[in-house]
Amino acid sequence: MNILVTGGFGFIGGHLIDLLTRCYPQARVHIVDNLLSNPVPVDVLMKDLGPRAGLTYQICSVGDFCRSNDSTSWDQIYHLASIVGPAGVLKHAGRMIKSIVDDTYDIIDLSQRHKAKLLLVSTSEVYGADGLCSESSPRIIPAITTVRSEYAVGKMAAEMAVLNTIKVTSLEAVVVRPFNIAGPRQSAVGGFVLPRFIAQAIRGKPLTVFGSGKQLRAFTHVADAAQGLLAAMQYGVNGKCYNLGNEANRTTIEELADNVIRLTGAQSKKQFVDPKAVYGPLYEEAADKYPDATATMQELNWYPQLSVEAVVKDTFKYMLGLDDGLLSTLSGLVPLECRNV
Ligand code: UDP
Repeated sequence: MNILVTGGFGFIGGHLIDLLTRCYPQARVHIVDNLLSNPVPVDVLMKDLGPRAGLTYQICSVGDFCRSNDSTSWDQIYHLASIVGPAGVLKHAGRMIKSIVDDTYDIIDLSQRHKAKLLLVSTSEVYGADGLCSESSPRIIPAITTVRSEYAVGKMAAEMAVLNTIKVTSLEAVVVRPFNIAGPRQSAVGGFVLPRFIAQAIRGKPLTVFGSGKQLRAFTHVADAAQGLLAAMQYGVNGKCYNLGNEANRTTIEELADNVIRLTGAQSKKQFVDPKAVYGPLYEEAADKYPDATATMQELNWYPQLSVEAVVKDTFKYMLGLDDGLLSTLSGLVPLECRNV
């Protein structure tokens, strides 16, 4: 079997690669990544993974890869490559929809040429409204145009391109919408809250809680998320969208900050700040969001197992290693079994 993973050097991608190469030791797993937002250097991740027969990679854009004369016959294509991060997206304002949509069309064409099953990684941001999000909820474009909504619209368009291509061609594909995935190797650079809080805790600095801290999110351990992607590829019904998130891990951001202080034993206090003071006027808060993942659990036999405490503890252990100058990461902190294979 030949498996292509775009964005395989990203945060979720690295864990997916770890899992795929364990679960399918006979497969060729090929990463295509342009290193726009990789959280750890390639050599660090490769050293961390150790020898993995069949794992290859190519540093290039999705477009260049899709237009190259690669002779491999791909069976499965995981399309993760994307601009990411609530702060990471800001510098791409005005160009993001083109980037997301162009890459997706290239991947659709490649999947069709190879008769490969495609898994498109979208985002929970497509829901755009406060509260519990289920796959039957509308995808809402907010009245105010923000960089965050540009990202959401790009992902909505990408979803629609895939879902409508399925109706008129033999393309086989599923869409996955992740909700606040967190864990080891996530970088604070994109603005993600957990690595920011933990870095602040490690340095004994105040934890910068944005706004009131009452925002609701449900954090999902990246090890659970990787299992979910595998399950969606394996069992996902053609043309369906699946929420990937752990509703049981619902928390306010202030509670998350309290948990980080408690679980790291830090002397830090909370500091309530305006995010625009940190990231500038383009930064916008997302709606409260947490997933109804009933269909994902029942149809894909995917049951996330790791609590908020586990996410915080594993991320803390990983970041402590970094702080000690141990650049090697702690993959294997959470055993990644091949639950669904
Ligand atoms: N957040 C925070 N302090 C920070 C960074 C983020 O309070 O230093 C909040 C942010 O306002 C949001 C939540 O944490 O409500 C989750 O943020 P993240 O950037 O991880 O993802 P989002 O769900 O906003 O895309």
